Amino acid sequence: MAEVKQLPKREEVPVELTWDLTKIYATDTDFEADFAKVKKEAESFKKYQGKLKENGDTLLEAIKEMFAIQRRLENVYVYASMKNDQDTANAENQAKNATVQKLVAEVSEKLSWFQPELLHLTIEELEEAKKQTPELNEYSQNLREWFEMKDHVLSDKEEALLAGASDIFSAPESTFEVLNDADLKFPVMKDENGDDVELSEGIYGTLLESTDRRVRKEAFQNLYKVYRQFRHTFAMTLSSHNRTENYVAKVRNYSTAQEAALANNHIPVSVYDTLINVTNKHLPLLHRYVALRKKLLNLDEVHMYDLYTPIAGEPTLKYTYDEAKEEALKALAVLGDDYLSHVKEAFDNRWIDVVANQGKRGGAYSGGSYDTAPYILLNWQDTLDNLFTLVHEMGHTIHSYYTRHNQPYQYGDYSIFVAEIASTTNENLLTQYLLDHFEDKKVKAYVLNHYLDGFKGTVFRQTQFAEFEKWSHEQDAAGKPLTADVISKYYGELNKRYYGPDIFNDDEISLEWARIPHFYYNYYVYQYATGFAAATTLAQNILNDNPADTQAYLTYLKSGSSEYPIDIMKKAGVDMTNEEYLEKAFDVFEKRLNELEKLIG
Ligand SMILES: [Zn+2]
Repeated sequence: MAEVKQLPKREEVPVELTWDLTKIYATDTDFEADFAKVKKEAESFKKYQGKLKENGDTLLEAIKEMFAIQRRLENVYVYASMKNDQDTANAENQAKNATVQKLVAEVSEKLSWFQPELLHLTIEELEEAKKQTPELNEYSQNLREWFEMKDHVLSDKEEALLAGASDIFSAPESTFEVLNDADLKFPVMKDENGDDVELSEGIYGTLLESTDRRVRKEAFQNLYKVYRQFRHTFAMTLSSHNRTENYVAKVRNYSTAQEAALANNHIPVSVYDTLINVTNKHLPLLHRYVALRKKLLNLDEVHMYDLYTPIAGEPTLKYTYDEAKEEALKALAVLGDDYLSHVKEAFDNRWIDVVANQGKRGGAYSGGSYDTAPYILLNWQDTLDNLFTLVHEMGHTIHSYYTRHNQPYQYGDYSIFVAEIASTTNENLLTQYLLDHFEDKKVKAYVLNHYLDGFKGTVFRQTQFAEFEKWSHEQDAAGKPLTADVISKYYGELNKRYYGPDIFNDDEISLEWARIPHFYYNYYVYQYATGFAAATTLAQNILNDNPADTQAYLTYLKSGSSEYPIDIMKKAGVDMTNEEYLEKAFDVFEKRLNELEKLIG
């Protein structure tokens, strides 16, 4: 019988492999004191209500107070949620985390009057206030972003009506979630060891990676059999969701839901549309990749369920955590001594919670607040993939570090549009480092394929989703029906166009739209694709060894949210309103595809 490896209990993990949360709060009593303070401050914030118009000084005071409350709340939140993540089975942690969740909702409600009232000021009144109180200019980017919403905020009465209906508006998404996560029952099937497994969305991904074709095929067919059974309900939740977004965009004076969603980050619609156009131009590269898979897997027909099984064998490289740290430092050395010194700081000062223990949250993330270290949670295993995870999370962590040390609190965060660029650039640097330093063919093939698979899943696949999302919203806006048959017909054709002539067009895949939660996130997925492409291009710039390029990149890491995301990326060296950064990224994909073809072809 196989030996079952027990995870250590939390208290058995060596302390140097855990993160040090006492630097946030030395004791729980300190945490509770701050908790009480936030509650009190949020309560008394209403003293500014109705007074923002009075004069510049009052406005300034209110803004400062609001940020101070949020700042303290973040510390309380981060402490409670990270304690909970380190051992979710600990009842005390759970309770602490739950009370903080409640506090977050309470504070947000208590501060909610601020922005609508602020927007009652005219631009002239705001300028006058700035003249009276020049310190307001330290918040000019915040004020710019708030006032940009002016044309899209309605009267108090209308806002109250919309706010009161917000639960109703999110019903399609909630219905999708309960149906997808709770109600759907998938059949039991045999895994590659012949053991019974109950299929679920959770293990579907693992089964699709199986080297046993029977397993992948059965997982694929069994999964979609269930979705087919409920396709009309899924079409209803998706179309109602689109209709809601179109409606809200219309009443808020946007021309489309797409424009409304992108306005949140001040991203021009052209960024989205350029991504779709340029990706379509390069679909022949994805077709070539599919053909290579078919050849390497020695298949007569390549099906959608053949796209995730490894084609370059198992990785032969293994790293202990200590070896991985050394390797990460070498791969990131191109970013310069200052960058490296902070990576070392992360390693040496217990910013990282390294190994798994009983009850610890799975996966990996980088977190923390403005006042804390930018912590990392890992569940370390000695694999090459985990080395990639380490440099990825380190990318977020150093981005946070630089931002928090170069920007005031009000600009000390960054938007999701730029966040994944810092982490993925690091992954790209590691890819190039490994390609340059290993002659072994198997290693090279594995690394090349790791990159190509990442590009396929992030640039091609997420752009396919983005294209679908745009189509489905436009379809509804034009008053055309979005029935299961209409959606599936479009999706099947879209999939065929993306994967090309070599793919066997399995009927099942035309139902994929039904199971993607991101279609309820309101024009979110395109950022995965733009981010990955921008990171590929930036990494190439950095590797070209022109110090100005590296400097420009570091400037982005230090910018936080002091400017619009698109302007920050321009300064970093990628103009995302333009095609060029995408063209460069597809060039890299092509070059690495050529290399892999040559290596194993
Ligand atoms: Zn990330």
